[in-house]
Amino acid sequence: MEPANVKSVLSQPSKRWVTKKFPDSLQWPRTQLLLRFSGLACIVHGLAWGAYYATNAMSLLTALLFAVVLVGVACLYLSVRQKQFSLGALAHLLMLITITASLADAPTAAGPRSAHLFFIPLGVASLLLFRYSNLYLRWLFPTTCFLSVAFFANSIIGFTEITLFPQEISALGHILNSAMAMALTIGVLAIFRDDLKSKVELHTALARAVARNELCTYMQPQVSVEGRIIGAEVLLRWNRPGYGMQSPAEFIPVAEETGLIHDMGLRVLEESCRLLKYWSGLEGASQWKLSVNVSPLQLTSPTFVEEVRKILEASDTPANRLCLEITESVFSGDLKSIVSTMEALRQQGVLWSLDDFGTGFSSLSLLRELPLDELKIDRSFIHGIEHDNRKKQLIRKIIEIAEILDISTTAEGIETQQQYKCLEAMGCHAFQGFFFGRPIAAAEFMDTYAASHKASRHPTKP
Ligand code: C2E
Ligand code: MG
Ligand code: MG
Repeated sequence: MEPANVKSVLSQPSKRWVTKKFPDSLQWPRTQLLLRFSGLACIVHGLAWGAYYATNAMSLLTALLFAVVLVGVACLYLSVRQKQFSLGALAHLLMLITITASLADAPTAAGPRSAHLFFIPLGVASLLLFRYSNLYLRWLFPTTCFLSVAFFANSIIGFTEITLFPQEISALGHILNSAMAMALTIGVLAIFRDDLKSKVELHTALARAVARNELCTYMQPQVSVEGRIIGAEVLLRWNRPGYGMQSPAEFIPVAEETGLIHDMGLRVLEESCRLLKYWSGLEGASQWKLSVNVSPLQLTSPTFVEEVRKILEASDTPANRLCLEITESVFSGDLKSIVSTMEALRQQGVLWSLDDFGTGFSSLSLLRELPLDELKIDRSFIHGIEHDNRKKQLIRKIIEIAEILDISTTAEGIETQQQYKCLEAMGCHAFQGFFFGRPIAAAEFMDTYAASHKASRHPTKP
């Protein structure tokens, strides 16, 4: 029976499942290109028509075109600053400007409306740009754009006192507007066609890499308060021919999108368990544990528990030396099944760690009910801790809460002796970071650390 409070936590409406630890690594270059392209288009269009309206003393339309220029400048600024969150606001501003322009461009005897055609590139851009965003931006906003095209095309609604194009330039104005809207649509589609092409190439290369075993495991040491090695975190790398060693940020999102993560994850688990078995026979290393990152997709797979059990059995590995790391984003999925998966494997002895703790949205009640053994304090909390009292207080509280809940704490991203000493003094149980050692190939790990069973206390060369 589940306790009532678990039920209340578990019955929270589940948000759209997002695994996105690296949300923008692939999307950002396209977004940047799109921002530059639309920014320039807005500036050129706004300046040209703005100058015309200004010289003809059409102040309202001059102001509207001035707003278009400002939106263009904002696009260029965002393309440099990588502030994704402002894209939604920008899209809404463009929508507002297009509505106003469409109303000012009511059909007349001299010609039909054309300003509403700008809803097409806006709809296409938002459909492609916000494909990983919430339901509103993903579907509702683009749909509204396309419906607006249909609405304005079939309606004579508009301002009676303002006209976008005076009679004498009406035909030319409509031709230019239509051409601009179509050119923008083609530009947006071209940018994202390239995006899809490079994605398909990456998918294919990754599938080939899994089949050809181009993926390799790296290990980063974890040390105890005394500075003794107590294990390692397993970190995937892809030795991609022609590209060199690729970091997980480059390929884990693709692996998750294509489902390849299941196969990759199982191989990492198999290799880790084989290594644990090998270590169990070595003096000094027999108690080391391995932390393996598990994608939320793996965790929600109905076969995951059985697969891990089989791997543990086949390798004859003591389950209590395998620690599975999950991130807080997993709890936006089906919590009930996630908790039951965690509990089923915990009964076997497998340990659970909550990775990147503090960057997600775990509540205290959730923490209390989850079968966790370890909290990994995210490295963003560690960075600069030497000079930041608020960070220190925050970490002290995290450690206190973990202690109350009987969960051990590991600090990740320790880069200096000062940071290590600081966290040690606060009562943190284990440490990981470049200060103790960078991730190195699994084979090298034993050579580097087995001899002394001690952390070098000096970063290994990258
Ligand atoms: P993570 O699990 O939080 O792993 C820690 C990351 O921090 C690693 O990056 C590690 O190289 C880096 N790191 C460790 N110490 C320091 C430090 O002192 N300073 C700094 N600046 N960085 C440090 P890496 O290897 O690029 O991995 C990134 C992420 O990729 C991992 O984050 C994990 O979420 C994911 N990942 C790696 N291997 C796997 C895997 O086998 N399966 C899955 N699902 N995800 C994986
Ligand atoms: Mg991790
Ligand atoms: Mg982490």
